[in-house]
Amino acid sequence: HAKASGRNCHRFFDDSMQGDVQDRMRMQVGLARAIEANEFELHYQPLIDLKTGRMVGAEALLRWRLPDGSLMPPAQFIPVAEESGLIVRIGAWVLHEACRQASLWPAINGPAPWVAVNLSALQFRQGGLETLVAAALRDSGLAPGRLELELTESILISDPASVLAAVTRLKAQGVMLSIDDFGTGYSSLSYLTRFPVDKLKIDRSFLQDLGGRGQGQTIVEAVIGLASNLGLACVAEGVETAEVARLLKDLGCGYGQGYYFARPMPAEQLMAFARAQT
Ligand code: C2E
Ligand code: MG
Ligand code: MG
Ligand code: MG
Repeated sequence: HAKASGRNCHRFFDDSMQGDVQDRMRMQVGLARAIEANEFELHYQPLIDLKTGRMVGAEALLRWRLPDGSLMPPAQFIPVAEESGLIVRIGAWVLHEACRQASLWPAINGPAPWVAVNLSALQFRQGGLETLVAAALRDSGLAPGRLELELTESILISDPASVLAAVTRLKAQGVMLSIDDFGTGYSSLSYLTRFPVDKLKIDRSFLQDLGGRGQGQTIVEAVIGLASNLGLACVAEGVETAEVARLLKDLGCGYGQGYYFARPMPAEQLMAFARAQT
């Protein structure tokens, strides 16, 4: 028996799993240290008005600058940050830093650009998000209308009543709310009329066969129509070609974001990008 259970035990903690757990633990320790050591930075990706071709806003995207100088993309560490709860502290830093930097952006050829910040479900579950947002706005002096909070469908359906209350209080502060990765999360659309959102961001997976004969275009057209009928703005994520940009504009999509216009870039480069556009 002992031998059998021992073997079971060994099988349970097999080498690959132990590696996984150790990797996660190491990552978790590293993330906690990264907060103290100020190793996070925000890059910004321009949001383009498809009618005018001008930058009207930018999305703040988190990166981890490792001691060896390399940059770790969020997909590699956000899951661990969420699991461990560290995303709450990291997210607080992101909000403050994004508002601080956006408050320095001048108006060039139109209103000063807004900044879009991604939120995690845990930041809602933890509570206090309204206080945090109010503090970030107050400390930076950023006008509330220049802050956009990006929520996912899964946040909205995770705890509808408490999230609705939080979102409503956030909206009352004058910030803008958008739904990120729209179309990938949940099939019910009823929450769209219940939550005071301003904008839908069409997930980039739907842009893949735009212009081709696939289903992508049907979905993109449907989302643009839905947004328009609900009085919401619409952003297409992952615009990689001039053809897709033109098609989206012709379909009536207001805004675009993607490598065709610009990749995410350090804060220092963003205003040069905005100025170089005419
Ligand atoms: P997201 O919010 O949907 O952000 C858009 C992602 O698409 C970014 O990846 C961006 O670099 C990428 N992207 C933009 N244009 C193109 C394109 O034309 N082609 C392709 N292939 N990709 C494009 P990134 O920066 O790696 O971020 C990945 C995800 O990590 C974000 O997806 C967001 O969900 C999450 N994230 C980033 N920063 C934060 C943050 O501060 N807090 C939280 N909670 N999540 C964050
Ligand atoms: Mg986003
Ligand atoms: Mg997205
Ligand atoms: Mg996302």
